[in-house]
Amino acid sequence: MFAASRRFSTHAATSRVRSMKRSKRRQALDCFMSHIDKTDDDHWLWTGSKDRDGYGRFVRRDMAPREYLAHRWSYRYFRGPIPEGLTIDHLCRVRHCCNPDHLEVVSQRVNLLRGDGFVGKQARMTHCKRGHLLSEDNVYRPPSRPLRRHCRQCKALTSSKKSA
Ligand SMILES: [Zn+2]
Ligand SMILES: [Zn+2]
Repeated sequence: MFAASRRFSTHAATSRVRSMKRSKRRQALDCFMSHIDKTDDDHWLWTGSKDRDGYGRFVRRDMAPREYLAHRWSYRYFRGPIPEGLTIDHLCRVRHCCNPDHLEVVSQRVNLLRGDGFVGKQARMTHCKRGHLLSEDNVYRPPSRPLRRHCRQCKALTSSKKSA
């Protein structure tokens, strides 16, 4: 009798914890979605505050306040954990968009290449500043900075000037 009732109460406690976890998750999602504005072209725009770089800041208040980057939270919630060393890239290039379908985990390198920073712009350049075509055999990548691309023809020009 005693054993049976203990088993019962243990079971009840476990399922209570499970449903609490479920409702926490639900609450977090409700809170998250209350900051989302879905657009016609399918972006989930973050209407809450943003950080300096324009990414959404999601502060959860349902437990001890914790701050997340909104798009990272979205990815983890809808898609799963973000593997260590990888970063989230916005395929749609809208930084405050949180649509999990617009997000993709990529390596830091891919993110830099696609981005609008120096490396990304350089990677998409087709000609150097003197107008030489940056074809694969005209491109030199310094081993110490493999993401940079230098024009071999310009390099030849400048080094011949120096020696002249
Ligand atoms: Zn988007
Ligand atoms: Zn050049």
